[in-house]
Amino acid sequence: MDKIVALAGGVGGAKLVHGLSQCLTPEQLVTIVNIGDDFNHLGLRICPDLDTVCYTLAGKANLATGWGRAGETWNALESLGEIGGPTWFRLGDLDLGTHLERTRRLRSGEPLSKITKDFCCSWEVEFTVLPASDDNVPTWVYTEEGELPFQEYFVHRQCLPKVSGFRFADVEAAKPAPGVLEALGDARLVIICPSNPWVSIGPILEIPGIQEAVACRTVIAVSPIIGGEAVKGPAAKMYKELGIQPSAQAVAQQYGSLLTGYVIDLVDKGQEEALRHAGLEVLTVDTLMKTNADRHRLAKQVLDFGEQVFDRKNK
Ligand code: GDP
Repeated sequence: MDKIVALAGGVGGAKLVHGLSQCLTPEQLVTIVNIGDDFNHLGLRICPDLDTVCYTLAGKANLATGWGRAGETWNALESLGEIGGPTWFRLGDLDLGTHLERTRRLRSGEPLSKITKDFCCSWEVEFTVLPASDDNVPTWVYTEEGELPFQEYFVHRQCLPKVSGFRFADVEAAKPAPGVLEALGDARLVIICPSNPWVSIGPILEIPGIQEAVACRTVIAVSPIIGGEAVKGPAAKMYKELGIQPSAQAVAQQYGSLLTGYVIDLVDKGQEEALRHAGLEVLTVDTLMKTNADRHRLAKQVLDFGEQVFDRKNK
């Protein structure tokens, strides 16, 4: 029981996972990644969160955008635009290679988890990165304009339509990918990364069997909400539109009894007492990861805190 399992979406999750990878060995760390954002576009299978995590661990991520690859060029997208093709989803030339090969292999019947493993091997990523499932669980966003596929809402419509709920299609029939339940069964600690609780962590936990397996472990979450705002993306906007005041506390309430420990930002120190009152162990530190040193420091603090929480819980 010495594995550390991280649950992650894209940008926020990848940053903490990168920090964890600098503190742990490849045998210790397993990352389970959201697949609700995955979609078909231009005939290709695109897995944004999985690629963000893998590119980050491979040192290939674009640090400025948080998604896509460093040193990217955009020739294919430009030529696509010239002939009237859809360019709203930005796909760089280097990134396209990933999608082409993944799509080819998926079409030949290989599972996403095996393809991801092989890509990681090619990119010299020694850490285990697992899609939450090999089945498709596409996120749909209920909005004032009707139901929108996730990327239509997130990228094409830039999260503008007001949200009233989410649906993860076919999730009841989805199975955890090979290795997911095994890793959770072996986990000393599960870390819920600072990812969007609605559309990054939610779809992972909805896959039958995963939430139950997580609930058996010592679970620590890092709040993606700092000072009532998301660092990036629509998480805070989603809370507001769903009638909830966005805060670190709101995230803890959403995860509910799953959590044993909770890491919040220094600016949210005022919420410590209420969180402790609700039965949580709380660590209050600087959780904003601007630099690689921040990722490393936060990961170390989360792991040390996790050890203390584990020891107290299992004493
Ligand atoms: P996405 O799938 O690319 O949107 O990525 P995630 O769901 O993993 O990350 C989005 C969430 O991460 C947002 O709610 C952000 O507030 C949060 N986030 C991003 N960077 C940081 C950071 O440095 N610290 C913290 N605490 N949260 C962050």
